[in-house]
Amino acid sequence: MAKRKKIKVNKEEAARRVKEIWPILKKTYPDAKIALEFKDPLELLISTILSAQCTDVRVNMVTKDLFKKYKSAADWADADLKQIEEGIRSTGFFRNKAINIKGACTKIVEQYGGKVPGTIEELVTLPGVGRKTANCVLGDAFGVPGITCDTHVIRLSRRLGLSENSDPVKLEFDLAEIVPKRNWTAFSHLVITHGRNICTARKPNCRECPIAKYCPSANNPDLW
Ligand code: SF4
Repeated sequence: MAKRKKIKVNKEEAARRVKEIWPILKKTYPDAKIALEFKDPLELLISTILSAQCTDVRVNMVTKDLFKKYKSAADWADADLKQIEEGIRSTGFFRNKAINIKGACTKIVEQYGGKVPGTIEELVTLPGVGRKTANCVLGDAFGVPGITCDTHVIRLSRRLGLSENSDPVKLEFDLAEIVPKRNWTAFSHLVITHGRNICTARKPNCRECPIAKYCPSANNPDLW
């Protein structure tokens, strides 16, 4: 397979591009929001751990019953590991996920009085919680701005020439410099929604893309 060409990224240009595409994406996807269903930070934390290598639709199906059974961090911490595994089996990688969920909830009970902590520094100390999960919980459950670098954000940032980094942590810091902080969470949702609808991994639909005018990869398969 031919090696994909890289777009040289200039920070000022990238920041300008963000400004240009922001109103268009907002207008195109006025309802863009997280697809995981949750009532509180704990439910979102569990759902986000479960969503690794799994669709949000599947996670929502699984958590519908689980969240009736396990209502608090203590419920998860005290639960039998095998029972957690059974409950989440269909989300894949269930053994690791069960260990992480039980471990995270045990720490939440022991160190944070049963409440999910609300800072990135604390969240990333929980088992199974990296910056992506932490930012998702911060942004959507606590209302603290967070950039969620999932597969869509990584792909679109490259195609749009916003960053040369595909490492999620480096990309997060690149985007943090060019996206106004107040928009971090919403920007993530807009880009993810655009990645699901138009700029898909296999076949971006540049012909119908509302931001094609500003995209350096538009109609150029060598850059996809
Ligand atoms: S123009 Fe094409 S490559 Fe660029 S964002 Fe739109 S769909 Fe993606």
